[in-house]
Amino acid sequence: MLEKKREFSGEEVIAEFERLTQDAAAVQRETLRRILADNGATEYLQGRGLAGRTDPDSFRACVPLATHDDLEPYISRIADGDTSPVLTAKPITSISLSSGTTQGKRKYLPFNDELFKLTMHVYRTSFAFRNRAFPVEDGKALQFVYGSRQFTTKGGLIATTATTNLYRNEEFKAMMCDIQLPCCSPNEVIMSPDFAQSLYCHLLCGLLFADEVRTVFSMFGHNLVLAFQTFERVWVELCSDIRDGVLSPTRVTAPAVRQAVSALLAPDPALADEVARKCAGLSDWYGVIPALWPNAKYVHSIVTGSMEHYVKKLRRYAGGLPLVAMDYGASEGMIGANVEPGLPPESATFTVLPDIAYFEFIPLNNSDGGASADALYTEAEPVDLTEVAIGEHYEVVMTTFAGLYRYRMGDVVKVAGFYNSTPKLKFVGRRSLTLSINVDKNTEQDVQRAVDGAAKILPAEKLEVVEYTSYAEVSCDPGHYIVFWELNDEANDDVLQSCCDELDRGFADAGYVSSRKTRGIGPLELRVLQSGTFQKVLHHYLSLGAPMNQFKLPRCVARSNSGVLQILAGNAVKVFFSNAYD
Ligand code: AMP
Repeated sequence: MLEKKREFSGEEVIAEFERLTQDAAAVQRETLRRILADNGATEYLQGRGLAGRTDPDSFRACVPLATHDDLEPYISRIADGDTSPVLTAKPITSISLSSGTTQGKRKYLPFNDELFKLTMHVYRTSFAFRNRAFPVEDGKALQFVYGSRQFTTKGGLIATTATTNLYRNEEFKAMMCDIQLPCCSPNEVIMSPDFAQSLYCHLLCGLLFADEVRTVFSMFGHNLVLAFQTFERVWVELCSDIRDGVLSPTRVTAPAVRQAVSALLAPDPALADEVARKCAGLSDWYGVIPALWPNAKYVHSIVTGSMEHYVKKLRRYAGGLPLVAMDYGASEGMIGANVEPGLPPESATFTVLPDIAYFEFIPLNNSDGGASADALYTEAEPVDLTEVAIGEHYEVVMTTFAGLYRYRMGDVVKVAGFYNSTPKLKFVGRRSLTLSINVDKNTEQDVQRAVDGAAKILPAEKLEVVEYTSYAEVSCDPGHYIVFWELNDEANDDVLQSCCDELDRGFADAGYVSSRKTRGIGPLELRVLQSGTFQKVLHHYLSLGAPMNQFKLPRCVARSNSGVLQILAGNAVKVFFSNAYD
């Protein structure tokens, strides 16, 4: 079923998806049976009383829910070289490292061939639907992708990001040929150790192959925005490189990258003039993508969850081109495919493929009290994939072919509907990322709503919130929220004061509103940051080894994240306190 077909047939893939989703409950039972039949004798599962049973009821009765902390000792032993069947019967072939942007610590996760095949299965499925909606046959992809460093664990396993683990797989290139156009940039650019050099070269190679580009891609939307913001700054230099046929000696210094890109360059004044003319003709960079890449059909990236903030900016760059939301997955495994690529990012959902893992969902209800961020929700007993209810919130729990059993993902999703019998999920946010002082609780999405609402006051077409994050300040009494904004230009103080008031009003959570009224929470503070502050935050993460491809700026900074807090504290240029509840 998951083997590479000799020729990719989108209609066959779609037909298979239709079949799999008809009776998702049966497919889930079979998926669990296979996982447990393969791995029932592992150290983790043995002794839990399953005694060969593979049905969901026995599984739930015998095996507890687990977090990464529970599994860490087992994964560490595998990384250290224990080749006995610890979590899986077949050996784990490498380790995936999560991005670590949520808690500042990168998690180790098992990776194996099954995970590879299942990821490809999801990619093929979403491609089949995407290509039906927006057919592309030949040409190239302008991809802002960055390989990440890898290292060898004590036990000799390669540890790197899940995407790099995919790239490393020998079958990957062959399989991707069917579903992905070749990247404009040579491999040396993708694998360059210096992100800024890679980005410059991606832009340059994209211009060299401008007429052939059919799609524009990055894994997370943030990287696309960064790419075009950089383009705004460096386009003149890019034109001069194209005109002279010589790669800028200051922008790109890595010898392997220079060599690979120089091989593509020859003096081309006509192209340089054309690019310059098109850039000069744009108004505030609106529609730069279709102007420079006239044959591009769509822009493809993760633009949901914490990436939704970038949609507005991306729409400017994309002009009328559709923004297609990319699938939902994690280093732990894939979860859902976007099978409705025509929907705008705000409405995008992820349809769970019932054969890629065994899924459970912990029902979450808004809690009306509790002092910790964890008390944002009250939990009920996990339900099956097909038992979820439309409109309800859940935490995703996965049992995978790579040794995770009843593993809590920490992601909150909302059920938007069903595709046949399998749910379509909307991504809500990371469960642990909450803005909370006492009885008030806000998710990343709540913060985003407040920011979007307040940003409407900014004079349209001139000012925008480039980046934002938030923090619950509890070292003073009463505590209060701090929202950090970086703007694209200077704003006047009256406008910013109004934004600050509106932000305060924008947090609609009942606990917050009542605490504000009773002064249990102090006035919201808006700190406007110096331009470039979030670049420093990004570089801080990169210096800790975070992978560029997977970087996601947390929309609420945890108290433990002292590195980021220091940068934010040191770069405020203006501070406002809300009068909204005076
Ligand atoms: P990592 O394991 O570092 O690759 O990060 C995976 C996490 O990224 C997931 O658990 C989600 O929180 C987030 N994520 C992945 N895909 C999406 C998506 N399509 N939309 C929103 N967030 C996503």
